[in-house]
Amino acid sequence: MNTDNIYGQLGISAPVLAFCREIEEGLKERFARIDENAEYNQMKVIKAMQDNRVSDVHFAATTGYGYNDLGRDTLEDVYASLFHTEAALVRPNLISGTHALHIALSGNLRPGDELLSPVGKPYDTLEEVIGIRESCGSLKEYGVTYRQVDLLPGGKFDYDGIREAINERTKVVTIQRSKGYDTRPTFSVEQIGELISFIKKIKPEVICMVDNCYGEFVETIEPTDVGADMAVGSLIKNPGGGLAPIGGYIVGKKECIDRASYRLSAPGLGREVGASLGLNTSFYQGLFLSPTVVAGALKGAIFAANVYEKLGFPVVPNGSEERYDIIQAITLGSAEGVIAFCQGIQAAAPVDSYVSPEPWDMPGYDAPVIMAAGAFVQGSSIELSADGPIKPPYAVYFQGGLTWYHAKLGIMMSLQKLVEKGIVTV
Ligand SMILES: *Cc1c(COP(=O)(O)O)cnc(C)c1O
Repeated sequence: MNTDNIYGQLGISAPVLAFCREIEEGLKERFARIDENAEYNQMKVIKAMQDNRVSDVHFAATTGYGYNDLGRDTLEDVYASLFHTEAALVRPNLISGTHALHIALSGNLRPGDELLSPVGKPYDTLEEVIGIRESCGSLKEYGVTYRQVDLLPGGKFDYDGIREAINERTKVVTIQRSKGYDTRPTFSVEQIGELISFIKKIKPEVICMVDNCYGEFVETIEPTDVGADMAVGSLIKNPGGGLAPIGGYIVGKKECIDRASYRLSAPGLGREVGASLGLNTSFYQGLFLSPTVVAGALKGAIFAANVYEKLGFPVVPNGSEERYDIIQAITLGSAEGVIAFCQGIQAAAPVDSYVSPEPWDMPGYDAPVIMAAGAFVQGSSIELSADGPIKPPYAVYFQGGLTWYHAKLGIMMSLQKLVEKGIVTV
């Protein structure tokens, strides 16, 4: 066995390999803690599956209206158990995180209501859902107003500003756990809990929704354990474990989930319809694998932070701080840097490694975006992927990796490309 040799065959030079090996050596203890977390979360998933008596009958496909789809209903019970909520909506026809968030919001808001984001600007695609950027069909067009309280310097909650912003029309509060395409810190579940308690003290009946994208299984508790009325995410991120080919979830209070379901299907139909078309096995099995997959992705993110921090680039989170999501932001400072990084990630992929990604005007984003993904599922970002808007500060957002070894290769290859372009030297 000659591992150095096969890395060489894949295109990693000896100096890049040596530089990265040294960094990996220093991360052993950190990685052991991640494994402990994954072990707990794996048991949590198994317990939820056992408590709901998951059986192979649940893997059968349904078609048409999907009445009495036992596999779908049981999967939703498993999610509800796992997130400690009354109900869940876990569906292939929630086609992405943005769609799930849109359904959760539009299902629970009515004309005249106000939506509040106490954590600053939401994820780019949400701007059009809300109507921050004019868009056909936005909540704004339906008479839902929006208010935002920006974070204080350092990413702290502006409690005074939040108190002032809450009014008699505030119906839903949206809290984004992950930084998304931003350089603010990601919030821990504990911090989210503190924010929710503060808001509920001012207005107990307000619905607190957490955009949980990229956060699932990073910690041993979820936002619904600390008072969130709804948590929302994508199955082609963490909880799909890389196997879900599509899908999203909304977990929370029964009345919130019911309202979302009437928006997803139709008033009167709600959760009773929606065939699972044979996708249930991958939803169950992906959820089962998710804690391990998330652990691999986290190791990749920490490794990337340490590699690029050592080279002098600003990284968020930094190499040593606690993690609350699987995203690593690296500010490369130039369009060439972002492009070379993404081309390295692409070159390390099991699928489409021979193509070279270029920036393009993606729907929902306000600047050209370059995306690298050699994924089994299109757009899946629990798989090793990197993307960056081509605009200052020229940061790249890196996430995923179905296995730690693949994440490691991807990061080494990104560095290799930067070295080859003369952007850095090791
Ligand atoms: C990815 C993401 C979304 C949107 O999910 P898509 O599946 O890309 O539509 C929303 N919010 C956050 C924080 C995300 O990371």
